[in-house]
Amino acid sequence: MADMLKKTEEKSNEQIDSNFIHNMIDKDIENQVYGNRDIYTRFPPEPNGYLHIGHAKSICLNFSTAQKYKGKCNLRFDDTNPVKEDTEYVESIQGDVKWLGFNWKKLLFASDYFDKMYEFAVELIKKGKAFVCDLSADKIKELRGTLTQPGKESPYRNRSIQENLELFENMKKGMFADGEKVLRAKIDMSSPNINMRDPVIYRIAHTKHHNTGDKWCIYPMYDFAHPIEDAIEGITHSICTLEFEDHRPLYDWVLKSLNWEMPPRQIEFARLNLTNTVMSKRYLKALVDDGVVEGWDDPRMPTIAGLRRRGYTPESIRDFCERIGVSKANSLVDIALLEHCIREDLNPKVESRMVVENPIKIVITNYPEDKSEEVEIENKAQDPDAGVRMVPFSRELYVDGQDFMEVPVKKYFRLFPGNEVRFKGAYFITCNDVIKDEEGNIKELHCTYDPETKSGSGFSGRKVKGTIHWVDAKTAVKIKIREYDHLMNEDENGENVLNENSVNIIDAYAEPSIKDAKAGERYQFFRHGYYIADEKLTTESSKVFNRIVDLKSSWKK
Ligand code: ATP
Ligand code: MG
Repeated sequence: MADMLKKTEEKSNEQIDSNFIHNMIDKDIENQVYGNRDIYTRFPPEPNGYLHIGHAKSICLNFSTAQKYKGKCNLRFDDTNPVKEDTEYVESIQGDVKWLGFNWKKLLFASDYFDKMYEFAVELIKKGKAFVCDLSADKIKELRGTLTQPGKESPYRNRSIQENLELFENMKKGMFADGEKVLRAKIDMSSPNINMRDPVIYRIAHTKHHNTGDKWCIYPMYDFAHPIEDAIEGITHSICTLEFEDHRPLYDWVLKSLNWEMPPRQIEFARLNLTNTVMSKRYLKALVDDGVVEGWDDPRMPTIAGLRRRGYTPESIRDFCERIGVSKANSLVDIALLEHCIREDLNPKVESRMVVENPIKIVITNYPEDKSEEVEIENKAQDPDAGVRMVPFSRELYVDGQDFMEVPVKKYFRLFPGNEVRFKGAYFITCNDVIKDEEGNIKELHCTYDPETKSGSGFSGRKVKGTIHWVDAKTAVKIKIREYDHLMNEDENGENVLNENSVNIIDAYAEPSIKDAKAGERYQFFRHGYYIADEKLTTESSKVFNRIVDLKSSWKK
C-alpha cells in the first residue's frame, strides 16, 4: 500500500498540472487550432441514473481542465434516449456536480437541439450523405459484416434525394411505426471501422420525452447527436471514455460533412474501475429497484449521493481523482486508495469522541458511590490548539469489548485481571475481579483506581503500557452505529458478487457530548474510525452514525 500511495503521490504531482490531455490542448493552443477562442469542455451525463465515482473522475477532469486554461465547462444532459430518462436524475446530477465543488458555464439539454439536429439531418440528405432505410434492425446487423468481412450495402441506399426527404419528413410526422424505418449515414460499407458502415443516425420511437413531451417521434442517435451538441456549444475538447475511440472517425465525419469550421476534438481516456465496486448504472438501478439497498444514496453505494451520505467529503473525492490521474490504458484502482483519501482529509479536520462498542461495565469499588467529577479530554488527539472538553467520570463506567480479555494474548496491554491501565484523561485503574452471571457471561468488572495518578497531575511514580477509553455509565448516550463493508466482493474467478453482509448495525455508548451531534457532522471515534451522523436518520433524540472508514488501512499485501 505504502508503495502504491507513494507512486500515486509522485504521479499526481506531475499529473495535476499535466496529463496527456493537457499536452494535446497545449499543442492545440500553440498551433492556434481554435484561434483565440477559450478552451471549452463539457460534462455530458445521460439522465438515466445517479452519478457514480466513475463520473466524478470525468467531472473533475472536465471542470479542472477548464479551470486550468481559464476556459469554460458546460453541464449538458445527453437526453437523446427518451425511454430511460427522468427528471429525478436531472436534479440529482446537478446537485452532485455542485456538491463536488464545480460550477458550470451553461446548463443545457441535448433535446434543446432537436430542431437543429433535424435540420442537419436534412442537410446530409440533400448532400447525398444520408438515406432512409427500411431494413429491420436485425437485417441491418446481419448486413453490417464483421471485423474481417466487409458489410453489404442496403437495397435502399440509392434512393433519390427527393424520396429520402419525403420519407424522412413522414418519419417525423409519425406515419411509421417504431423500427419501420431509420435514417442512415451513407459512408462506406467496406470500411475497416464498423462504425463507419452506414450507421443509423435517426430512429423512430413513439415515446414521450421528459423535456420535449410528444413533439418528436424520431430521435437522433448518440453518434450523430453528440458532435452536433459539442459543435453548437463551441466545445473545443470533447473528453470521453475509451470505448468511443472507434467512434471518433464518425464524430469527425458528421462535422466535416456539415462543413463545420474549427470542429471540436474528441479525446478519449480510460474509465475508472475500482475493486469491490460495480459502476454500471443499470446494475446500480437494479439494486435500488430490487430493494437490495436503501436507495441511490445508500451509504454502501458508489454513487456520489451514497458517498456523500457515507461521509465522504468533496475534497477527498477530488483528491482521489487527481491521484489516479488520466491515462489511455484501462486499469483497476484499489478502493483502499479512496479510503486513504478520506482518512487523509478527515484526520486534521474532525474532533474525536469516546464511544464504546460491545460495552463491558466497570465498577470502581474504591470510588465513592455518590461522587462524580469532570476530566479533561483533548478534542483532537494530535492538535493541542483544538482545545479540550470536560467529560464526566464516576464509579460506574463502560469500556469497549475489545479492550478487555479475561485471558490475555501475548503483548496485550489493555485490561485483564491483575493488570493496570490508564483510563484516558482520568486515572490508573486495576482490574481485580470478573463478575459473571449464572450462564457464565461477564456481568461487570470490579476494579480499583489510584487517586494519585490523575492525568495532568504530574504523577510519575510508575508507568502503564495501555491507555483505554471509557464512557461514564450514568450519562452515557446510546447511539446506533452502522458499520459498512464493501458492497461487492470478488469470487474465486475474480468476478464481482454481492456481499450479503455489507452492513452491521450495532448499539454503542457514547460520552454525553454526542447529544449535540447534528446530522452530517463527522467525528473520529477514539480507536474505531471516522463516523458521520447520518443525514436522514439523525434527530435531536436519536443518533445514528455511519462508519465512513476505519482508522487504519485494511489493505493487505
Ligand atoms: P454507465 O455505463 O455507468 O451507465 P455511462 O457512460 O453510460 O455510464 P453517461 O451518463 O453517459 O454514463 O456518462 C457521462 C460521462 O461520464 C461520459 O463522458 C462518460 O464517459 C463518463 N463516465 C462514465 N463512467 C465513467 C467511469 N467509470 N470513469 C470515467 N468516466 C466515466
Ligand atoms: Mg452513456
